Amino acid sequence: MAEKKRVFSGIQPSGRLHIGNYLGAICNWLPMQDDHFCIYGIVDYHAMTVHFNPEEMEQCIFNAAIDYLAAGIDPERSILMVQSTVSEHTELAWVLNTITPIGWLSRVPTFKEKRQANPDYVHMGLFDYPVLMAADIVLYKAEVVPVGDDQVPHLELTREIVRKFNSMFGPTFPEPKAKLGDVPRVLGLDGVNKMSKSLDNCLYLDETREELWKKLSTAVTDTKRKRRTDPGDPLVCNIYTMHKGFSPDKDVEYCARECRAAGIGCIDCKKILLENMIQALGPLQERQKDLRSKPAVVYDILKNGHDRAKKIAIETMREVYERIGISKYHKH
Ligand code: SF4
Repeated sequence: MAEKKRVFSGIQPSGRLHIGNYLGAICNWLPMQDDHFCIYGIVDYHAMTVHFNPEEMEQCIFNAAIDYLAAGIDPERSILMVQSTVSEHTELAWVLNTITPIGWLSRVPTFKEKRQANPDYVHMGLFDYPVLMAADIVLYKAEVVPVGDDQVPHLELTREIVRKFNSMFGPTFPEPKAKLGDVPRVLGLDGVNKMSKSLDNCLYLDETREELWKKLSTAVTDTKRKRRTDPGDPLVCNIYTMHKGFSPDKDVEYCARECRAAGIGCIDCKKILLENMIQALGPLQERQKDLRSKPAVVYDILKNGHDRAKKIAIETMREVYERIGISKYHKH
């Protein structure tokens, strides 16, 4: 039987997961577990590229593990691991740093955005994190990387780095391909910016019905639809984007049709979305609660993920050291 293609993806443990993470990343990850060998990382080193609180980091990692497991990451089939526990991530990042031209990194749009957002916290890690991201992927020789559309430039950079490494030292890494999810980018409740904790425009996975409704009921829709009797355009409405992530086809079609015909108002449309969200998030929240009461189970899963990831990482680094001519000194 052909070996399954490897997948790597990671999410930062930067707090509670929100609907944007869930639809844009995790829902994309889940079906891949059926026919790929998936390695999912809680990328704590990446979380350190912005202001962070060391006193909260361990808890954030634990919460992230719970969120992924509750959402359906299956540790029997996939690896769930914490990035910093596999030191080969940073070892490989250094090697890749030495072949990555500075110009390639200055082109990355997120660096410019983050520099503008935090002008008092611009450092090498912020500039260099796409190289660490490349190392995260190629350390496991991943061929497929599930990404949101904003991550595509990073993956393109990874592919360039892979091509350069392979041409300098011989074929070592596959060129990973991006796999975009079915749900386009989910915006925040403001309907303008990407859903983001720092912008305070999120719906969180662990919110109650009342909390979700409080936020959804005031969320921005098609801004040209001023009155209930105006027809709307679902294609410019973030509520409709969320419907595509949570609602069955019949509800998605109904809302699109009735929105265009002014047959339903935005509040009706949001109520349908809320019910479908609760259907999906209710069982997930139950599993979160259950896992929170069994921390030892979660730590065991992460330890097992570490052991399996480490084995692959050591193999890859052995090959890398061979390629770059220092393997003799790693044979202890
Ligand atoms: Fe958006 Fe629904 Fe209102 Fe149409 S009816 S604008 S899809 S919230």
